[in-house]
Amino acid sequence: MRFVAGEYDVCVVGLGHAGSEAALASARLGLSTVGFATNLDAIALMACNPSIGGPAKAQLVREIDALGGQMAINTDKSLLQMRTLNTSKGPAVRSLRAQVDKKLYQMNMKHTLERQENLDIKQAEIVDILVEDNKVTGVVTKLGAIYKCKACIITTGTFLKGRVIIGEVDFESGPSGLFPASELSEALKRLGFKLMRFKTGTPPRVDKRSIDFSKMEIQPGDEVITPFSFMHDKIEIEQMPCWLTYTNEKTHKIIRDNIHRAPLFTGAITGVGVRYCPSIEDKVVKFPHRERHQIFIEPEGRDTYEMYVQGMSSSLPEDVQLEFLRTVPGLENVRVMRPAYAIEYDCIDPTQLKATLESKWIEGLYFAGQVNGTSGYEEAAAQGLMAGINAAMKILNKPPVVLDRSQAYIGILIDDLVTKGTNEPYRMLTSRAEYRLLLRQDNADFRLTEIGKEIGLVTEERYEKFLRKKIQLEKEMRRLSTVMVRPTEEVNNFLISRGSTPLVSGVDLYTLLKRPEVDYKSTKFLDPDRPDDILDSVAEQIDINIKYEGYILKQLRQVEQFKAMENKKIPEDIDYYQISGLSNEAKEKLSKIRPTSVGQASRISGVSPADISVLLIYLQQMRKKKSNESRIS
Ligand SMILES: Cc1cc2nc3c(=O)[nH]c(=O)nc-3n(C[C@H](O)[C@H](O)[C@H](O)COP(=O)(O)OP(=O)(O)OC[C@H]3O[C@@H](n4cnc5c(N)ncnc54)[C@H](O)[C@@H]3O)c2cc1C
Repeated sequence: MRFVAGEYDVCVVGLGHAGSEAALASARLGLSTVGFATNLDAIALMACNPSIGGPAKAQLVREIDALGGQMAINTDKSLLQMRTLNTSKGPAVRSLRAQVDKKLYQMNMKHTLERQENLDIKQAEIVDILVEDNKVTGVVTKLGAIYKCKACIITTGTFLKGRVIIGEVDFESGPSGLFPASELSEALKRLGFKLMRFKTGTPPRVDKRSIDFSKMEIQPGDEVITPFSFMHDKIEIEQMPCWLTYTNEKTHKIIRDNIHRAPLFTGAITGVGVRYCPSIEDKVVKFPHRERHQIFIEPEGRDTYEMYVQGMSSSLPEDVQLEFLRTVPGLENVRVMRPAYAIEYDCIDPTQLKATLESKWIEGLYFAGQVNGTSGYEEAAAQGLMAGINAAMKILNKPPVVLDRSQAYIGILIDDLVTKGTNEPYRMLTSRAEYRLLLRQDNADFRLTEIGKEIGLVTEERYEKFLRKKIQLEKEMRRLSTVMVRPTEEVNNFLISRGSTPLVSGVDLYTLLKRPEVDYKSTKFLDPDRPDDILDSVAEQIDINIKYEGYILKQLRQVEQFKAMENKKIPEDIDYYQISGLSNEAKEKLSKIRPTSVGQASRISGVSPADISVLLIYLQQMRKKKSNESRIS
């Protein structure tokens, strides 16, 4: 029997990485919010790798932070190790990767959710969504409790109709042995949503005491930790190392000999898997000539012996897993604590959503995270934050917040999902960004803090901290061009010692810093008036802005062209079937996606440049006709 159990502005279904950010954003913007999870002890569960960040994902984490989200702060508070990847490459791909204590991460996130004003969290499985006149009005739990709401955000991750597969065995389950959500998929289908079946997999967890680390290469963290959150200046912890080892021909042979028992190849798995996170059996089959594959052994936490075997995701039978694990140097006597497994789950086709992540035909119903066809904690958290913000903005009658591809990786993520869709789990990559030199992890605060402030999510404390940094940077950038460096013996010895050509005449420090061999910190002795309190993060900005000035200006010019097309808005009620000259495919695709701008229209697959020209002419004619009509009336 159904009964009304409560009324909120916003209901968030799921408290994973997406749901936590969505619930916090909505509550922090002053809306009464309730968050549901099938198990409150699994809030912000890291069901897979014990790490946050890496290429493109670190940019997402920093962007979430700059907008006032929680993931970066939570990561810094749960840190085991921090590494900066790609330090030898350009700043566009430099990225932080944090090894995280999973239990601490969950505990810290639950702690934050429980103490958040305007937010209640509840353990319940949502089985139905209530809709009247194409508007969401509430959710229903398995026990029949109705929670009324003005907006509902679905962030169900890998739980919807979850099915775990390990060799010949499969069973209904969510990740990590949790219950699946078995009924909501049908409710979404009844509301007209097209669902897809995706799959992901995870490696075994093994007992640290059964590993011989002397046969592996230690992977320590950075000497000086760079915090993920712009709110933190420094972090001092005892870092835990990771370890590197490799598979070998013996490993590969066992996998090949048992490939007939691999669900991935027997057809037992029908869900579409993650291209950029292949299972070990996939790697062995697809790259037969590779003699070895890297394996990273990563700690799952400070107070556990569980170690994560990165690179060994699999759904082969448990006996085969044990056999191939014991061929790896250092794992000869390994004891498995949790077997590797694959999980299939339902998710929606994200082209059914607007750029605010709201459904195109049910007002107030939003989707975020893995349920939108993505893979990754960071991708999920970014969507959760934006869905939470936009649900709140709508209820508060404020304009929606849509970041474009030149502003943020978050903008690229959501635009790709709602414009192009995805037919496999979507993972963020730096190669997806047209303007990646502008979208670096180090300048996310300069790109987004002001926007976060305008939204109302950025606190006074964060804003003042940001302003201090911004003012310091601007002042220092101006000052450097006034500092003259003379071709003295000391200066030239310094330059020669760095493999840089000696000066023949005086030059300002700004120009000197354009040289790759010279950086801001090492030139302090040339700059007696330099303030002593320059932040490390400001020093980093100075070096990047000066050294890449030309490339940055070039990308900024490209962004102007991009924005020109983004600003060519398309009326909501346009009927593409009335536009002669458009290809049939374009009419179909444009009518399905309903792009809001010509720029977005140009990114829809199947819409050609010729179609875009036809559309531009049509829009111009419409504008002319309208202005004529208004002049007559
Ligand atoms: C086996 C496995 C392997 C993975 N491998 C990778 C990988 O290799 N690389 C990678 O980047 N990512 C991987 N991930 C993905 C990563 O875990 C997810 O991307 C991330 O957790 C998604 O976050 P989310 O918030 O969308 O969903 P989740 O973190 O899954 O959270 C979903 C939440 O929804 C709740 N929920 C679900 N249905 C209901 C309901 N009906 N009612 C109430 N609450 C509900 C759950 O209780 C949970 O709180 C893997 C995940 C799993 C399970």
